[in-house]
Amino acid sequence: MFLRELTVPVTTLRGVGASLMRTLSGAGLGTVAALLTRYPRDWEDRSRERPLRDWTGGPVCTTVTVLAHDWFGYGAMKTLKVHVEDHTARAVLVCFNRPFLEKQLPPGESFRVWGKFFWKYGELQSSAFEIETARSAGGILPVYPLSAGLTQHLLRRLIRQALDRYAPVLENEIPLDIAAVRSLLSKAEALGSIHFPSSAEALEEAKKTLIYEELFYLEVMIGRRLTARRGTAKPLGGSPALSPLQRMLLDRLPFTLTPGQEKVLAEINADMGSGVPMARLLQGDVGSGKTLAAFLAALRALDGGKGPDRTGGAQAAIMAPTELLARQHAENAARLLEPLGIRPAFLTGNLKSAGRGRLLAALAAGEIDIILGTHALFSRDVIYRNLALVIIDEQHRFGVTQRQAIIAKGGGPAGKPGIPHLLMMSATPIPRTLALTVFGDLDVSVISGIPPGRKPVRTHLAKESNAERVYDFVRKELDSGRQAYFVYPLIGDEQAGEDRPGGGTEDPEGLKNAVSMAERLGRDIFPRHPTALIHSRLDDEEKRKTMEAFRSGKIRILAATSVVEVGVDVPNATCMVIHHAERFGLSALHQLRGRTGRGEEQSYCFLIYSEPAFSGEYGTPPEGSNLEGRQRTPSGLSGEGKQRLKVMLESNDGFVIAEEDLKLRGPGQIAGIEQSGYLKLGIADPVRDADTLLAARKDAFAMLERDPGLLLPEHRLVAETLERAPPFSEVGM
Ligand code: ADP
Ligand code: MG
Repeated sequence: MFLRELTVPVTTLRGVGASLMRTLSGAGLGTVAALLTRYPRDWEDRSRERPLRDWTGGPVCTTVTVLAHDWFGYGAMKTLKVHVEDHTARAVLVCFNRPFLEKQLPPGESFRVWGKFFWKYGELQSSAFEIETARSAGGILPVYPLSAGLTQHLLRRLIRQALDRYAPVLENEIPLDIAAVRSLLSKAEALGSIHFPSSAEALEEAKKTLIYEELFYLEVMIGRRLTARRGTAKPLGGSPALSPLQRMLLDRLPFTLTPGQEKVLAEINADMGSGVPMARLLQGDVGSGKTLAAFLAALRALDGGKGPDRTGGAQAAIMAPTELLARQHAENAARLLEPLGIRPAFLTGNLKSAGRGRLLAALAAGEIDIILGTHALFSRDVIYRNLALVIIDEQHRFGVTQRQAIIAKGGGPAGKPGIPHLLMMSATPIPRTLALTVFGDLDVSVISGIPPGRKPVRTHLAKESNAERVYDFVRKELDSGRQAYFVYPLIGDEQAGEDRPGGGTEDPEGLKNAVSMAERLGRDIFPRHPTALIHSRLDDEEKRKTMEAFRSGKIRILAATSVVEVGVDVPNATCMVIHHAERFGLSALHQLRGRTGRGEEQSYCFLIYSEPAFSGEYGTPPEGSNLEGRQRTPSGLSGEGKQRLKVMLESNDGFVIAEEDLKLRGPGQIAGIEQSGYLKLGIADPVRDADTLLAARKDAFAMLERDPGLLLPEHRLVAETLERAPPFSEVGM
């Protein structure tokens, strides 16, 4: 029998009646299988002695002798105190509600006690102590995550009982040959030892086995997904050669592709000519030129499915997470692609009905070749004639369901849906191990290197009190014709009044905001240089105008929130000044810095921090919508804030920064992954267990290759994961 088949209710265990059953079911522990897979969150090692004298170091675990009894309180409150000593000290066991201990622990008796002790009323006391029974003596005990109505004692008792009864009939789930090669325990042994290990070594073995098992199932699922998409046939490598439209574009560009772009382009072309849908994740640091790679991929798609006049041809959709970025892409597409006879269009959520209707009709009729936009691209009423390629820029900004919705629009000629090619792009590199779990069924390309002639951005730290010196520096850059961004954590300060000290540019916590700083920058600090303001609450038309003015150089200074974080490309901007930088996450800081260094001039990034960040006094940012985007950091992270700034000073490399981010925040927090659902593993952690993950992947893929149809007992967790996130290939088929 497999563990997941133990669906018998816990009422089959001794001592579980109707009311306890309700409590257990409420905690998700209604079946024996659920109970046995409630793995401990920790273990108490009671095999290690800790005498009374060392009570400050953790729970005491020692043999004591009873010296005397006494009582305090009256009536129902009457409570026994048992005075004991071990070889190091004396202490008192306060026996609330345990009067029966009077008989069990007579003076002169010795026994082992385990519990936390505190110094109270001039004596060393414990009231939450346990007396060891023969069964648990010297062992390592599980500590379970609890919920209302459950106790450690109860769960230990029930799980012990379930193990005694069912472990002997449990079947192994990992194929035997693999278990032998990887020296894994049997399922029964592993389960027994994860709950009640006989030693620290046994616990490690059990963890190793269960972690492997979980990752093995995950990789089997990913492998299946891959075959579902590709079919069992191996894709024929398509030709990496340039398509006609691609050649036309490249001939018109004033520069040549970087080696990184060339490599990626060859991979994309090979994929798109291989006869199976492409599913590729393209990672490239900020400024590495991903937009161009996207346009070239789109051209390949158009070349792949068109007649000479391009009517009825293939279409490509390019989706970006913000209006600002989508518009920038659309403008670039118009500039670069229209001269080739391509018909691009821009679809935003704000397009009014008549225009929208016309655009949608043209799209459905195949009169638009490339459509660019935000998630409006997959509104219900958007119909494509022949969507052959979906490109998702800054893909980590989208949730899994959004990605799938647009893929589901894909297809061959209208009415005959198929799976479109998929290219996801990200400048927030996903560390390799995470990529294998979250995007384990995708091929991954990396654009390494940035276009030649660029100088790495120089990063400086400055105290808020030294901001004037930063302004002086920026003024010189502005005077010599460059442009600058100033970024603030807050949009505006609703409560700020003119009468407030600092002229309302700071909130009660001393945080500067974009609205009032835009005024100060323009009026007091840089009166000779035109300044504008941009943040997410402005309407789109205003945002568009402002960005255009900044791009064309009419505006020299942009006071902004982190809306400018993604994608914005203005090569003449050489200064990025980030106020309260300690409040921004690493990936946001790296993205913001990446707005500069896009031209040939030397660029500069100033990270201005408020001093409290370095004395550990920083509190939580105020609640409410006044904070823009993702830079909100919880309280108590001042040490982490400092760490982030240090990383920024030391590295310009997005991959290094992503790894550091992972270390600082843990995998669950990495942008775009938290909503993906893939990481809700039980006991495994793909980062910590990276080696196991790679081994499991290798084994799982090899096994699927030998026997693609092989059925394994589906693991509960993996089955749930599948439900949460259907594979790309199942959508739109
Ligand atoms: P990102 O990878 O951050 O999306 P972009 O696509 O915005 O980067 O490109 C950054 C800038 O580099 C753009 O101004 C683009 O025109 C320019 N660029 C792209 N490829 C090259 C190249 N091969 N040589 C020179 N400049 C390039
Ligand atoms: Mg980009």
